Amino acid sequence: MTLIEEPKPLRHPEKAHRPDNEVKRKPDWIRVKAPTSAGYAETRELMRGLNLKTVCEEASCPNIGECWAQKHATFMIMGETCTRACAFCNVATGKPQALDALEPFRVAQAIAKLGLAHVVITSVDRDDLDDGGAGHFARVIAETRRVNPVTTIEILTPDFKQRAGAAATIATARPDVFNHNLETVPRLYASVRPGARYFTSLHLLASVKEHDPSIFTKSGIMVGLGETREEVLQVMDDLRAADVDFLTVGQYLQPTPKHLSVDRFLPPEEFQGLEAAARAKGFLMVSASPLTRSSYHAGDDFARLRTAREAQLARALLAQA
Ligand code: SF4
Repeated sequence: MTLIEEPKPLRHPEKAHRPDNEVKRKPDWIRVKAPTSAGYAETRELMRGLNLKTVCEEASCPNIGECWAQKHATFMIMGETCTRACAFCNVATGKPQALDALEPFRVAQAIAKLGLAHVVITSVDRDDLDDGGAGHFARVIAETRRVNPVTTIEILTPDFKQRAGAAATIATARPDVFNHNLETVPRLYASVRPGARYFTSLHLLASVKEHDPSIFTKSGIMVGLGETREEVLQVMDDLRAADVDFLTVGQYLQPTPKHLSVDRFLPPEEFQGLEAAARAKGFLMVSASPLTRSSYHAGDDFARLRTAREAQLARALLAQA
């Protein structure tokens, strides 16, 4: 008997009919080693065993070998199918499945098994849900905290379908860090992030901080998509005006020929220049390098963020004395 295999669903059906874009050769400073460590294999096994998804795999993150060797994985909740179709992102797009009510428990258990001091939890966009998924994030935070009371929690969220109540739902759940990426400069939104609005994303960041100023806020952009330095400096000013604490800047890498081409690879010195500019604008923390990603070294960076805030408060008290 001949078995006929079902064709695999396309990861990006909306891009399949488009012509391929040019794939530029990566410069030496971008190259990373293939993941081979025992820690990497263990993390992979655990994720498979608990049927959990990570953005590390789904987005083909170049840092997976390094992060997973140290059991640093970024959980991706609410399924593996995104309802948006951003031109830079390798997460599969299409019609998502129903929410899994047991997911908060499985995430909390996995965090306990990995023994994480700091966890990063992200998700696909869920524009099919009335609240864009804000309530599910809140349930995952609550269960994570119940099972892992000393683990600090960082969430990296979509814009929750631009719903007005989402910021309050998230702030009430009290993650330690609220991260929402602007991804690029406003001029490029129509081609890079067509389903999103720059000022709505900024407003979400500002709103979470207004609801609870003790929550650290964080945002990131990719560079190498055709933006100018002046535009990046303007994004920094906008984020400071929204009282965002932590900025990440990393090189855009093209996941497949169907995704946007890299406009240019910025050399490491240019990232250092951007980091210096961002620090001068008053961010508590800045991470800018070719391989910087939102969740790269997030645990260590969280410790530095806390120290930076304490130092800032101490300086303010001294100035008042
Ligand atoms: S940088 Fe973030 S997304 Fe990439 S492998 Fe590390 S934890 Fe995963």
